[in-house]
Amino acid sequence: MTHGLMLGKYSLGVGDRFAHQAKAQLQACIEAEKAGVEVIPVWNKSNREHNIIGSEPASTRAAADAAVKAMGWKKPYFCDADHINLTTVDRFMASCDFYTIDVADAIGKAADAAAIDHFLKRRSDLAGTVRLEGVDQTFTITPAMLRATAEKFLHAVQEAGQVYRRIEAAKGQGNFITEVSMDETDSAQTPAELLIILSAIADEGIPVQTIAPKFTGRFNKGVDYVGDVAQFRKEIDLDVAAIAWAVKHFGLPFNLKLSVHSGSDKFSIYSAIHEATKQSGVHLKTAGTTWLEEIIGLAEAGGDGLALAKEIYAEAYAHREELCAPYATVIDIDPAKLPQPAVVAKWTSEQYTATLRHDQHSSQYNSSFRQLLHVGFKIAAKMGPRYLDLLESNEAVIAKNVTGNLFDRHIAPVFLGKPSPVAVLEHAEAR
Ligand SMILES: [Zn+2]
Repeated sequence: MTHGLMLGKYSLGVGDRFAHQAKAQLQACIEAEKAGVEVIPVWNKSNREHNIIGSEPASTRAAADAAVKAMGWKKPYFCDADHINLTTVDRFMASCDFYTIDVADAIGKAADAAAIDHFLKRRSDLAGTVRLEGVDQTFTITPAMLRATAEKFLHAVQEAGQVYRRIEAAKGQGNFITEVSMDETDSAQTPAELLIILSAIADEGIPVQTIAPKFTGRFNKGVDYVGDVAQFRKEIDLDVAAIAWAVKHFGLPFNLKLSVHSGSDKFSIYSAIHEATKQSGVHLKTAGTTWLEEIIGLAEAGGDGLALAKEIYAEAYAHREELCAPYATVIDIDPAKLPQPAVVAKWTSEQYTATLRHDQHSSQYNSSFRQLLHVGFKIAAKMGPRYLDLLESNEAVIAKNVTGNLFDRHIAPVFLGKPSPVAVLEHAEAR
């Protein structure tokens, strides 16, 4: 469809809440290169995150550019305006070259009747049996299904078209990567719906390179996938095949691939993602996992770092309801499992890091503690220079954790097909 900026086969969305870890994150991509796989870094930060932290998109761009320069990275890299819409996109025009157009809020709002009829006429040949390549499966799209899907999604896709054209007018065609996301909604899209949605995206002329559907199962922040792994595998295989079919039949960009949001720490589905996307490639967004590694690094450092990590937990505990509210649908915290701040205050570095670090081998690992801190970055943002100064004085220990987490626990299983931390655990138990 267009020739301009292209996203490579494998890409990693890295969130850097406080814009201090870009070098450590890039180091993980450099290690990937040494291990034989090209992983393109994409620094993503949503409007919501910028608002909570009080930062501007220009700071993400500056940190990414500085890291690329310092590390001598010669391959592409991008800054992603994550989850933007018509009302929030303008702020990101100057600094970003990757736009995740979020249309989830428009799903279910009906497009006007004439537009729906026009779509149904134009795409009437979709009704019938679709034989997907690569999976031993066909699906049947009935005229009623086509209509129901258009009624549910066409308005949302039209809105994506408006946002796309606004960005194109500001930046010029081919000068940015476009993603369309529908993940922050209640129900998963079926592969047949995905196919129909992609036809509508093609009609809107959006040169989409990544698409983020909602998958079945829970993608909670910072913790493992909760759901039926075998079912997920079937679904992602069909999604990949539906995308390949759509590329061929609707003239979408040939490199169109899946984007997996809230993709950090979903260890139990990494081998499924790797197997399903070996040919097509995949974009994995990891966002908040880096912020948790900052806390782990501070706790590991001991002294002032450990004291601050404890203080952040105590504050997060005190404000847990307010911190959790915006993330209610993507966290599962058991309040009874949250340790009292007075208890945490007596912990050693080892106790704190073992409780927080996402190591399912460890009997000390506490997913409620981890999720509360995951949404607690507002506390650190309020601390301002007190937090940032400690990040700087403990750079080495933090960087080791940030790089190691991204490479060992994310890049290795997803892009290199190495066993994920969970598979290692199961293997050890089986022996
Ligand atoms: Zn998302």
